[in-house]
Amino acid sequence: MPAEHTYRIVIVGGGTAGWMSAAALARFAPPGYAITLVESDAIGTVGVGEATIPGIRHFNEALDIDEAEFLRATKGSFKLGIEFCGWKADGHSYMHAFGTVGRQLGVLPFRHFWARGRALGLAKDLAYYSANEIAARAGRMDTTASGPGIAEVPYAYHFDAGLYAQFLRRYSEARGVTRLEGKIAGATRTADGDIATVELDDGRSVAGDFFVDCSGFRGLLIEQELQTGYEDWSHWLPCNRAVAVPCEPTGNFTPYTRATARQAGWQWRIPLQHRIGNGHVYCSDYISDDEASAVLLANLDGQPLADPRVIEFTTGRRKAMWNRNVLAVGLSSGFMEPLESTSIHLIQSAITRLLTVLPGRPIDPAIVAGFNRRAADEFETIRDFLVLHYWANQRGGEPFWDRMRGLELGETLRQRIAEFEGANQIQPRLDELFTEVAWLQVLVGQGLEPRCWNPIAERYPAAELKAFLDAVESAAIETVRPMPRHIDFLARLCAEPSAEVAA
Ligand SMILES: Cc1cc2nc3c(=O)[nH]c(=O)nc-3n(C[C@H](O)[C@H](O)[C@H](O)COP(=O)(O)OP(=O)(O)OC[C@H]3O[C@@H](n4cnc5c(N)ncnc54)[C@H](O)[C@@H]3O)c2cc1C
Repeated sequence: MPAEHTYRIVIVGGGTAGWMSAAALARFAPPGYAITLVESDAIGTVGVGEATIPGIRHFNEALDIDEAEFLRATKGSFKLGIEFCGWKADGHSYMHAFGTVGRQLGVLPFRHFWARGRALGLAKDLAYYSANEIAARAGRMDTTASGPGIAEVPYAYHFDAGLYAQFLRRYSEARGVTRLEGKIAGATRTADGDIATVELDDGRSVAGDFFVDCSGFRGLLIEQELQTGYEDWSHWLPCNRAVAVPCEPTGNFTPYTRATARQAGWQWRIPLQHRIGNGHVYCSDYISDDEASAVLLANLDGQPLADPRVIEFTTGRRKAMWNRNVLAVGLSSGFMEPLESTSIHLIQSAITRLLTVLPGRPIDPAIVAGFNRRAADEFETIRDFLVLHYWANQRGGEPFWDRMRGLELGETLRQRIAEFEGANQIQPRLDELFTEVAWLQVLVGQGLEPRCWNPIAERYPAAELKAFLDAVESAAIETVRPMPRHIDFLARLCAEPSAEVAA
């Protein structure tokens, strides 16, 4: 685009969504695009959002961000999966570990051999066949780990979201993004109804051709201005509040997130270098804010480092993420509780999708429709996955959990569960975030073990099947054996390079 036709993209908001958008646009937008970000220190950010899934590494890599520098700057740690404690029943725990569980044999996925092995009394719990879970529970980490038949041990990060935003701010400003500090009080429209400017309360006006609304739950442009509408999913996911508090770190520096079921919701635990992030997600129909805070404070590893802070939300999604010349990214586009750490990923995928259709003028309605369809699909499959965790509980005598067990499931989730129980089938949709192994771990973890397998699995006599299962298990163990402790690996990686090396 020639310089005289500069295309002005204005990002509204400077939380994780705003600065991730700014950084990606700064890195990839061709000449002729001018990127401005407006944020208000007085309003601040939501201040939570610390656990991610492996896709975040692609984002950082695409931005050429050095991993050690990133972990130092964000006080981050490694994450190999999520442990779910008490979700099936009190005292029970399982893990959704990243990466593979077992391995395919011939044309069949591992779960068919595993199901047959279970029936014959030969197979152990799924956890024994996952290098990620073995490493996580042993507190081991190595980004380059591999083993016999195991190419990698996929991982994500825990990080301080505020520090990540600051890190990306430095990155973006160094690449030409203009940051304006100020409070947006309104917007003006063009003759055909698009947003023309955002108006700051000190009289400044910021004009743009395209606006990325990263203003958080407020949805300043997408909702307050364009009134796009919100699809409320509270009937499926009724938790509507979270109380968050950081606490002092203890020696238990786990390379995984923990989600522990509580009487009317659940509690997260996210270990960072300088603190542990904690929060209690709950449904206010069953527990008051004070009770929820008390439950949280009674279940911390160390001393709280701040007062508990309550955050209210409504689960659901914006009816259109892209409306006119506004794209909602982050909390302004919708929200689902962080049970599977998906929000930052949704930011990333919205930005990635935007980059593939970088708008010029005029904006093609077919592109907008395609974008919105894919974004809606993505939200809906994540929603189904979250609902599964709640619906398949066997917790007795707690009104919240009884209600969740009695949920009327949507058609897509009902179908998935029926296919799994009836035929040991798991068919993620095209482009779906969660793999069949992710679904398998949660289905089985919640107690929905398949009682059948593909008859091709019968071709292997019991002795051969056992040898296969044993080989898979020892490959997972051998992969983990040389891995150092998470804390040592991280310390080594994050050690400042000596002046000599740096030079
Ligand atoms: C309880 C909870 C736990 C979460 N945990 C996780 C997790 O573990 N993993 C995960 O991936 N995600 C998690 N998330 C989601 C994650 O926090 C968000 O997706 C992420 O922080 C992005 O937020 P945001 O940038 O959209 O909004 P915000 O952080 O709210 O930022 C909004 C920005 O808009 C600006 N702004 C708003 N109004 C104005 C105005 N009038 N004028 C100027 N500027 C304005 C603000 O100043 C701010 O800069 C969690 C969310 C919640 C609520």
